[in-house]
Amino acid sequence: MKYCYDCGTKLIEKELEHEGIIPFCPSCNKFVFPIFSAAVSMIILSEDKSKILLIKQYGKDFYRFVAGYINKGESAEEAVYREMAEEVGLKPKYIKPLRTSYFDKSNTLMYNYLAVCDDLNVVTNYEVDSYNWFSIDEAKEALKDAKLALYFFEQYLNDYAQKDN
Ligand SMILES: [Zn+2]
Repeated sequence: MKYCYDCGTKLIEKELEHEGIIPFCPSCNKFVFPIFSAAVSMIILSEDKSKILLIKQYGKDFYRFVAGYINKGESAEEAVYREMAEEVGLKPKYIKPLRTSYFDKSNTLMYNYLAVCDDLNVVTNYEVDSYNWFSIDEAKEALKDAKLALYFFEQYLNDYAQKDN
């Protein structure tokens, strides 16, 4: 972050009380905090937690989580329910926040959620090429080319899966 988002002036560094050194725009006379996108991705499980839903999309030949950007004005929880309804036609019985991770390529902070479903009747939209319900072990293999998803899935298994069952 080198230039002001509003006026394009080169930023300087200035001390902000209690915050330390923060980029500052001398033209707008204001501190400039980082701007990034926020998105959600979902570990979608059957109610007994034996099956997980993964999708392929955008013509790419690897499995990934259902995911999407959080709209302006929307909560992360609302984005979870909206994306699941839009992409796979599912309404989770309950959701639970898991880990978060910054994704450099798209300047996005990704919030991962657990979404447990009792109705597993998937209805995909145009954004989804195909889908499959995997066992937990199969899913680890299926996600090997989706690094961030695999990270979230392994963290989930470490943090919760044993205790939950
Ligand atoms: Zn400015």
